[in-house]
Amino acid sequence: MSDTIFAKIISGEIPSEFIYEDEHCVAINDINPQAPVHVLVIPRKPITQLSAAQAEDQALLGHLLLAANTVAKQLGVDEAYRLLINNGEGVGMTVYHLHLHILAGRTMAEAQLAQGLDA
Ligand code: AMP
Repeated sequence: MSDTIFAKIISGEIPSEFIYEDEHCVAINDINPQAPVHVLVIPRKPITQLSAAQAEDQALLGHLLLAANTVAKQLGVDEAYRLLINNGEGVGMTVYHLHLHILAGRTMAEAQLAQGLDA
């Protein structure tokens, strides 16, 4: 059982446009983009976070990486993109249903500058 916003999006309870979907995952545009391209790849299985994944999830985790690359190709950014997984409140995780962020269109340095994090 999972009642996160992503579980509701996957079940259709909350309408959302899937820019990609297959039997194991869906991809949606992030509602609050941090880069020109910011997409979330979300497994249908409601694993709360990466540290809760089990050995039985190994194939699914690999699948998510390949699906992310497929989405990046679909969006024309497969030459240069970044994948990010937040794990835990201390790094700002907000939705406890595992997801990969695909970010493209700006560098880490530019992203840090935009957030005022340049050291
Ligand atoms: P995280 O901080 O890794 O847990 O990321 C959660 C992400 O989900 C954030 O980037 C939010 O902007 C995004 N988000 C939250 N609600 C929605 C939604 N309804 N549709 C799309 N993205 C969402």
